[in-house]
Amino acid sequence: MEDCVFCKIIKGEIPSEKVYEDEDILAFNDINPAAPIHVLIIPKKHIKNLMEFKPEDYKLMEKILATVQKVAQKVGVDEKGFRLISNCGPDSGQEVMHVHFHLLAGRKMGPKIVH
Ligand code: AMP
Repeated sequence: MEDCVFCKIIKGEIPSEKVYEDEDILAFNDINPAAPIHVLIIPKKHIKNLMEFKPEDYKLMEKILATVQKVAQKVGVDEKGFRLISNCGPDSGQEVMHVHFHLLAGRKMGPKIVH
């Protein structure tokens, strides 16, 4: 998608602080962190949001789950814990229309959704 900021990050046209990358998935630090650790985990395939996953994309969700675990270990919060959020659609406040998962950690999360 030509005007998608995350597709541009995947192509290297916009710089990012990469935390993890393989052929299907990229994880990088959020530019405007809402917590001391704020990593975005995205599939390289352009999918708008969770509702746009087709059955043929479900394998990607397995890889995303595995990546969440790898990233949590890599940034050292697998034991202390983290919050995982994916905004989907207008009421959620989704701003970037390329499905992504916010991994938030490094402080106690309040009972409210923080992002
Ligand atoms: P959402 O509101 O769930 O769509 O979240 C989009 C997230 O993308 C926000 O937390 C932004 O700070 C983040 N973001 C936007 N542009 C960039 C960028 N160039 N590099 C890293 N994170 C970004």
